[in-house]
Formats: sequence, structure tokens, C-alpha cells
Amino acid sequence: MRTADVVLIGAGIVASSIAYHLVSCGCKNVLVIERESAQGKGSTGKSMGGVRAQFSTSVNIQMSLYSIPFYASFEERLGHPCDYRPQGYLFCATTEKHMAYLRANYEKQVAMGLNVRLVSGDEIRNWLPLLRADDIVGGSFCSTDGFVDPYSAMTGFMTWATDHGATLWKNRAVTGIKHSRNEQAAAFEVATTRDPVSTRTIVNCAGPWAASIAKMVGIDLPVEPLRRMLVPTEPFDQFPHTAPMIVDMSTGFHFRPESRGFLLAWNDPEETPGYKTDFDPGFIEKILTRAADRVPVFENVEINPKRAWAGLYEMTPDHHPILGESPDVPGFFFANGFSGHGVMHAPATGKILSDLILTGKTDLIDASLLNFSRFAEGRMIHETAVL
Ligand SMILES: Cc1cc2nc3c(=O)[nH]c(=O)nc-3n(C[C@H](O)[C@H](O)[C@H](O)COP(=O)(O)OP(=O)(O)OC[C@H]3O[C@@H](n4cnc5c(N)ncnc54)[C@H](O)[C@@H]3O)c2cc1C
Repeated sequence: MRTADVVLIGAGIVASSIAYHLVSCGCKNVLVIERESAQGKGSTGKSMGGVRAQFSTSVNIQMSLYSIPFYASFEERLGHPCDYRPQGYLFCATTEKHMAYLRANYEKQVAMGLNVRLVSGDEIRNWLPLLRADDIVGGSFCSTDGFVDPYSAMTGFMTWATDHGATLWKNRAVTGIKHSRNEQAAAFEVATTRDPVSTRTIVNCAGPWAASIAKMVGIDLPVEPLRRMLVPTEPFDQFPHTAPMIVDMSTGFHFRPESRGFLLAWNDPEETPGYKTDFDPGFIEKILTRAADRVPVFENVEINPKRAWAGLYEMTPDHHPILGESPDVPGFFFANGFSGHGVMHAPATGKILSDLILTGKTDLIDASLLNFSRFAEGRMIHETAVL
């Protein structure tokens, strides 16, 4: 039977980054198991690619402070592009309550070393005259926020890892996990649709399907799939392509330049958890209403419904990921529940998981904040800046 030092289940961007970080620390006998015939068929290939450090909790900001500079130097480090475009994120507030929230976040972000600034309503009106900004009271802008190409980042991580020792198995689903404890450590036998593998360390990197993998070792993981839909416009040149990701805090509508058009996003509050990956054509009218309300020239955009798509967020009860070793099944690690931020936090996740697996600790974050035990111990942390 094949033996690996570390088995990663799933081969999206999170596993790819963990594989890269493990191998670059000298842990080369890493096996990544993916059930699909190609990488990127899970959430990673559906992502909007936004990367930002403008969060409200310190731990999310810290993860971005590692990840965004990593993306900025991705090609230098890995010899592969990730198409990082630092066009910024602009949050637009229409109420004093939202402005107070941005101000509180700003203070925390600046104290942590982020180059972010508060902007006035007039500055936004002058900068982006095509926004309907009569009700905008101000906002916050960070110029190192921006976008990456998630697919390219994922393949960059995995190509580097496999070129330097890791192995990627495609077309093999993990179907079960047997575990037994001996005196040194836990040992696992991972059953797949082809050959089994034995290992002492497993990382659950199964994205929206993470709960089913955790179930295989008897753990109830609070990660739920939630559909998110994105609508690309046809080529459109009536709004500047140098624009940042613009977030309308009054509705949650946000958009960014993509190719020769724009990518429109809005999280429908009526969406309910479940494995729904079909695009609902009724969503187009809902999103266009919000889009044209904030950007009147979007009345003229053309949409081809066949190019719109849906994917799954992997939601946890406190919208923060679950990272680290299971307290009940030693050797079984989680890298799950990114709640819409798995692309932007993949570099930090790779570093944290590789640190925890290889040395039992990390100095990137206080790992206890994101461990699985926080739910049982009532230590959930709430992030309100979820898009
Ligand atoms: C519409 C949309 C927009 C988004 N926008 C952003 C954004 O702007 N910025 C951001 O940071 N994040 C965004 N996200 C979230 C981000 O895409 C995810 O958090 C991230 O891709 C999770 O990566 P992953 O590797 O954990 O999961 P995935 O990419 O889903 O990979 C998991 C893999 O596990 C495999 N798998 C599952 N079960 C098994 C099994 N039994 N055996 C073997 N393999 C298995 C799957 O096939 C899959 O390939 C968005 C998500 C969606 C849906």
C-alpha cells in the first residue's frame, strides 16, 4: 500500500497552497487526492478572485497581511502568474452607522500596519462620477486590495509542489477513512475509488464537501454549502476598467472590472444552504436592479445568461475558517469553512497548516482562535465584513 507523510483530501486552491508550503519546508512525501478529472471544479474555479485586507477581525486582517504580499510576489516565488491586480477595494457607506463601522475597522487595520484610508463622499463623487453617489457619506479604500486569477494561483501552487516532490492523484474520490491509535501517533488508512493509502496525517481540504470527509472519522463539522451567483457583463466600456472592487454597503451589491466587461455580485439573503450549483436566471433581474441603482450606465449593459454561473461558499457559524488539528482525532487536520474568503486566505492557510503539521505551532496567527474547539467552548468570533 502507498504511504504518504501527509494526505490532502481535495485539490482546490487550499490544498494546493498547503502542498506548496509543506514541500517548500522539505516535507515532500505529500499526496493530494482529487475526485475530479481536473483541478478547479469545486469552489475555486467559481470564485470572483477578490483579495482584500479590509476586514473587521484581527485574525482575518492578519491572514490577509500574509496572503496579499504573497500574491504580489507570486510569480517571483513560484515562476507562475497569479494575475494579482492591485486595483483596490472601495467600500461605500450610505449611513452614519456604516461609516462608524468603517472607521472602527480602519483604526484596527492601520494599527496592524495596513495602508488603508477613509475617503469622503466628495472624494468618491469626484473620483467615480458615474456612480450614483448622492447618498454616499464616505468610504474606505485600500490600494493593495484587488483581484487574482484563482485558477492560475491554484495551478501555480500545485505545479510547484508536484515539480518539487508532491503527488497529485486525480479521478480518485476518497470513500472512507479507517483510523487506529498506536503508541506513537494515529495511523490512517484512506480508501479511495482506486488504491488505498496509509498516512499519519490527513488534511481535510474538501471545500463545501468538508463535512462529508469529517464524517468519515466521526466528526460533525459545522461547514455548510451556500450558493453564490456571479453575473459577467458583455464587453462594456462606459465605466472605467481601472476601477477598484466597489462595494455598495446599502445593498451589498459589488462589482469589479473583468476582461472587457464587469463581474457583478450580490449575495441574495433569501438563499438557503444546500448543494445547489445551478444558476437561477431570475437572479439577473434582481442583481441588475441593484447594479443600475448604483451605476446608472449599467442600464445599458448586456448580459448573456449562459455565461453567468453559481458556486458554493463553505459557511461556518461565525464566518471564520476552521484550521488545525482535530482535538478528538489526532493527525486529522481541518482547512475548511472559509465562508467566501478561501482564495484570498489560501497563502496564509498553507503557511499555518504547514507550520502546525510540521512544528505544532505557528506565529502567523493565534491558532487557537480558529480551532475546532471554539464552537464547543463558545469562543466564536464574528466577522461582519462578509461579502
Ligand atoms: C461565486 C463565488 C465567489 C467567490 N468569491 C471569492 C472571492 O472573491 N475571494 C475569495 O477569497 N474567495 C471567494 N470565494 C470562495 C472561494 O472560492 C473558496 O473559499 C475557495 O475556493 C475554497 O477552496 P478549497 O480548496 O477549500 O475548496 P474547493 O475549490 O471547492 O476544492 C475542494 C476540492 O475537494 C474535492 N473533493 C470533495 N470531496 C472529495 C472526495 N471525497 N475525494 C476527493 N476529492 C474531493 C472537490 O472535487 C474539490 O475539487 C467565492 C466562492 C464562490 C462560489
